[in-house]
This record gives sequence, structure tokens and C-alpha cells, in this order.
Amino acid sequence: MPELPEVETLARGIEKVVVGRRIEEVYVGSDRIIRDCISRDFFTSAILGCEIEGVGRYAKYLTLSLATRTSNLSLVMHMGMSGQLRSSHLTGDELLFDRHSHLRLRFDDGSFLAFYDPRTFGRAFVDFDFDPQLKHPRSLSKLGPDALTSPDPLERLMASGARRSMPIKFQLLDQSLIGGIGNMYGDEILFEARINPFVTFGDLNPEEILRLRSAVRAILGKAIELRGSSLADRSYRDVAGELGGYQKLHNVYARAGQSCQRCDAFIERVVMKGRSTFFCPSCQRPRSPEGLQHNFSLPLRHSSNHVDLSYVDLSQIDLRNAHVDNVKVGNVEANR
Ligand SMILES: [Zn+2]
Repeated sequence: MPELPEVETLARGIEKVVVGRRIEEVYVGSDRIIRDCISRDFFTSAILGCEIEGVGRYAKYLTLSLATRTSNLSLVMHMGMSGQLRSSHLTGDELLFDRHSHLRLRFDDGSFLAFYDPRTFGRAFVDFDFDPQLKHPRSLSKLGPDALTSPDPLERLMASGARRSMPIKFQLLDQSLIGGIGNMYGDEILFEARINPFVTFGDLNPEEILRLRSAVRAILGKAIELRGSSLADRSYRDVAGELGGYQKLHNVYARAGQSCQRCDAFIERVVMKGRSTFFCPSCQRPRSPEGLQHNFSLPLRHSSNHVDLSYVDLSQIDLRNAHVDNVKVGNVEANR
């Protein structure tokens, strides 16, 4: 969090108030937020006096294009776990000058833009090399295709997915394969596509790949329409301090134990690599056991005492670190 829809909402929110404005003062309250820069002086002198020509987004990064005489400079921001942007044009709230507003810009019209981030996982840096073909700063070139705007968001997955044995859920979260999807939208996209999160991309047939491609666009597009998702901690708010609305349409994310809105099954939660995956065991049941046998290196922990692994070759699973009480595959049963 925030993922592509939230960052896109922030970008659209600040565009109308910062484009054409000149940066007259730069306040950096914590060096941690500019940890990718050589120094605070370097960062400040690079952007001070520059006019903002445009606002963009690539994957989960928000970019401000700055006009300079000598280079195509961009100020790039990543919101981390809980970063927020606030504009004094849109809100008068106290967060603009809060001690956790670690980066604050004052513009030539007297307005402020603040980067508020109490957990300080967010960061801001400058990039002097804008790529006109890719239309984003070159430092973001290592990312996979943007999930929303690229011609084919699954392009790199198509090229490399079949060779990987990692579950599709984690492939969707790999920013070098596809840019912009995080844990929350990954689960919602796989539910929409009726794909089990633990199969690999190589396991998908052409029809499932089509469903996945269409679900990526549909879920992210709808989430942007509703200005992103604000979860129970309300840590995501838009640039005016308003909550997003897409959380009301979540089908699986953070709904463990509740009934599926498409069938009667209960939504399940599995923790792998420290991250929760929510899915419907009925709607997202793997198509068939054949060809779905991969060596998943768990740890795997479940919120209840039942995990359906009937699509996995048990002999290939390393159960030494699994937090599973009881595993059944057909008539095979393995107790820890
Ligand atoms: Zn279901």
C-alpha cells in the first residue's frame, strides 16, 4: 500500500495544483526520505527554482517533471507503506506541517505540497535522465510494464513466467515483471480472473491468460474510478485528505472467513513469505491437478486448520517449515 490506483489518484489530484508552479522553498525534515540521494544539499539544490511541467505515474512511482536549462529532471516519489501527499490548495489540515511531513515544497503562489509518512518507508529522489521513448525517468526502467498503461501488462510474464516455479500471486507482485500491483490488488485480480493464487504462470492456459490480462485492467481501472482503497487503518487518503472508495468492492482481500460474493464458500487466508493471500477455494479452484505440480517452498500458514493443496504434488513439498496442522491430498494424509 499504496498501489497503482492510489498513486494514480494522488497524481491526478496534485496535477491541477502544481503544474506551472515554481518551487521556491524545499524543506527536508528527515534524511531518510531522501536516502537515495547523495545529500540533502544535492537534493534541495537540484529542484529549487524549477517549474513543474507535468505530473506522471509509472507503476507505484509518482513523478514530477521539472523544467531546467540543462537536463530533463524528474522528482520521483514512492509512497512506501503509508505515505500521503497533501496540498494546501485542497486541504487545510494540520498534516501539511506535521512532524511526519518529511518533505515539503513551497510554490511561487504560496501553496504547499507535503509528503507525510509516519512510517518513513516512502522515499523521494531526483533523476536527471528522462527517457522520452518510455516516457518516464530512466531509473524506473528496471520495472516491468506498467499494469495500466502498457500495451500488454503481461508481456514480461509471458516471456519469463513459464520458466518460473513461483506461484502466480508472487509473480504478479514482482515489480520487475509487472509494475504497480501489490498484495491487495493481486488478490482481487486473481479472484476476478478465477485463478488460484498458488499455480504458476506457466500453468495457465490461453483462456486463463486472457482472463488475467482483462482482470488486471478491469480491477485497476475500477479502483482508480473509485479513487483507490482505504483499509481499516485509513492510512491511505487522497491529496485532499478524503478516503478512497474501492475497499467497498473488495471480493477477497481482508475478507477471510466471510462468504464469497459469487458462491457460498468461505474466503480463505494463507500466509506465505510473511504475506497474506486471500482467495475463494471454490471460485479459484485449480482447473485440474494435471500439470500443476510444482515444488512450492513453503512456509505456509493458515488461519483455520484446513488448507486445500489437492493440486500440489505433496512429495515435492518441503513441509519442514510449514505451519499446517493436517494435509490431505485425495486419500493421502500427512500429519506434522
Ligand atoms: Zn467463490
